[in-house]
Amino acid sequence: MPTFPSIKELQGFKVVFFDLDNTIYPYEPAHKAALNSALTKFAFHYDLDMDTANNLYREARKIINQRLHGQAASHSRLLYFKEMLTALNHNTQFSDALQFEKIYWQEFLTEMIVFPEALKLIKQLNKRGIVLGIITDLTAQIQLQKMKKLKLETYFSHIITSEEIGVEKPHSAIFRHALNLFEVDGDQCAMIGDNIKTDQGAENLGMKFYLV
Ligand SMILES: [Mg+2]
Repeated sequence: MPTFPSIKELQGFKVVFFDLDNTIYPYEPAHKAALNSALTKFAFHYDLDMDTANNLYREARKIINQRLHGQAASHSRLLYFKEMLTALNHNTQFSDALQFEKIYWQEFLTEMIVFPEALKLIKQLNKRGIVLGIITDLTAQIQLQKMKKLKLETYFSHIITSEEIGVEKPHSAIFRHALNLFEVDGDQCAMIGDNIKTDQGAENLGMKFYLV
């Protein structure tokens, strides 16, 4: 369970930004269940053992991560599965790539649960009239679905995804966009996130960073 800053520490800020993945909900359990579900079906469908399917996935992810480094699509599960099919010379099985992506995210959304501490803090901040935003790496389509599933839509004024900005955290463009959107200066804002390498980029724009 992450430790969040107290409401006392945060009440002086005009806007509090949250990272989404692994800050508001635990990423690993949802990802593990989703990947297991998708790869089990992948292995069965293409008559592979699970180790082979796992290795294919890891290799495909590596290729896409490297090729699209710093862009939202570098995390695209559709591109991972498409790349796995290319490796197997099944590159024309487009509907399979779509199907495995669908299985992955369906299972992920089913397994995902909010951190109770995060929800408590979000509600407290909301009650005190502190404006909330999300700054997250990944494509808008799935990040919006996560917000819907977590029933958090009503608490946040904006969600900013790296897909919309064209760069990922810690690039200052994504944080600058957030400040412009909320019409605030960096020193009026806090950023709460689980990743010191990416979320801490908020400090370069004068925001106070809290690692959870
Ligand atoms: Mg995160």
